[in-house]
Amino acid sequence: MMSVFSYRRKNISENAGKVPNIASLGKKSLCRRTYKSSQSLCAQGILERLAGGEVVIGDGGFVFALEKRGYVKAGPWTPEAAAEHPEAGERLAEANLREPRRFLRVRQLHREFLRAGSNIMQTFTFYASDDKLENRGNKLGFSCGRSYVSVGGAVSCKKEGEEYICVKQQINSEREDEDDEEVCRVQGQQINEAACDLAREVANEGDALVAGGVSQTPSYLSCKSEAEVKKTFQKQLDVFIRKNVDLLIAEYFEHVEEAEWAVQVLKGTGKPVAATMCIGPEGDMHGVAPGECAVRLVKAGADIVGVNCHFDPLTCVKTVKLMKAAVEQAGLKAHYMSQPLAYHTPDCNCQGFIDLPEFPFALEPRILTRWEMQQYAREAYDAGIRVIGGCCGFEPYHIRAIAEELSQERGVLPEASQKHGLWGSCLEMHTKPWVRARARRDYWQRLKPSSGRPFSSSLSLPDGWGVTKGHSFLMQQKEATTQEQLKPLFEKADEKH
Ligand SMILES: [Zn+2]
Repeated sequence: MMSVFSYRRKNISENAGKVPNIASLGKKSLCRRTYKSSQSLCAQGILERLAGGEVVIGDGGFVFALEKRGYVKAGPWTPEAAAEHPEAGERLAEANLREPRRFLRVRQLHREFLRAGSNIMQTFTFYASDDKLENRGNKLGFSCGRSYVSVGGAVSCKKEGEEYICVKQQINSEREDEDDEEVCRVQGQQINEAACDLAREVANEGDALVAGGVSQTPSYLSCKSEAEVKKTFQKQLDVFIRKNVDLLIAEYFEHVEEAEWAVQVLKGTGKPVAATMCIGPEGDMHGVAPGECAVRLVKAGADIVGVNCHFDPLTCVKTVKLMKAAVEQAGLKAHYMSQPLAYHTPDCNCQGFIDLPEFPFALEPRILTRWEMQQYAREAYDAGIRVIGGCCGFEPYHIRAIAEELSQERGVLPEASQKHGLWGSCLEMHTKPWVRARARRDYWQRLKPSSGRPFSSSLSLPDGWGVTKGHSFLMQQKEATTQEQLKPLFEKADEKH
């Protein structure tokens, strides 16, 4: 298969005439890598790239993408898939050797984003803090993969009821230790480690950096102390440092206070730190304006600030513009980042798409087309945003659209563009003449796509319960949600609709 690098060279000649000023393509040297290395040999880190004027393309939201493929459970949205689903035939051998296992689905999604043009492989560690892995009955248990005979004993992992039990049996001994059986509950460490290995493996196949990501915690919502919340981040961070990620991202924070705590912990490592909040122009869930949030995050140590998730691309660009203006006005310096939803959200309040009645299982009619993504990429670039990626709803073709829109600025088309003529030019090969007539930019830019749903309204009324940290409904618990706990919620919801 052709590498990203060879395609970069190839596209200069093949696409000449289709991308204006094509002669400039390929001039910007990205990074060189040694494929055998277990860690990045990328000559330039993210801050050097940004300082050099490069546009860095992020990836898409893994939890939503993998939920649709059947590997993530909506509700908890936890990333145990990073440590499940080993490829057949590898499990036993790798468990024996205590080597990191390889995990097909997560790795494949990384690869698809890389091929589409992503320069950042974010570790699939969203909600991989220990407190989130055991929240509201989300008791994650699966086989630790141990099944081997070693000197003096044998170990095997078996499912018993709902849980996996790891049984150690001593050989040449009649005594059975009390601790011979242990429950193989998945630990945050295990998920975070596997996620780092997968991201690194794929990043090394192309021009990408690895970003270790932390996100908001149930501990914060439940009013735990700063020290306790920071300790939760630190646990994930210990793995990221051991695995030598290239940068750190604190993402998906609804409250600037918790985002600051995360940045303070991440900054202690000396790695570049990006911080993105899931807020819109109205600000965080306590009403702190985006500009003030950004200034506080830069002061806490963030090198890159911006937003992710919760709102559509153009709303996110608008929010980052507010952040940038405030940071500049405060005499501070930062780089800017946006990783929005791939859903249109013109009807959202400050809580974003979580408040939409369609969240999370009926959002499909709102998905942006690839052409709308090109508009997003252009507007983000024009706003001075240089780390441009996506979150929930983004599929690899959305990332490819960003890479194609900015191909001239970046000097490269992604490998996935081999199968995609710019602005529909591949339709020139279509058998039907009226479809061939769509092989042009004007057609797709002018099109207003129909929903195909004659009884749908164009906008929804958000739920707007208006509860956040400090409200009893937001207190989290390890135990499963009970029917008694659900009853008042159903009643309150029914009053609204
Ligand atoms: Zn998201």
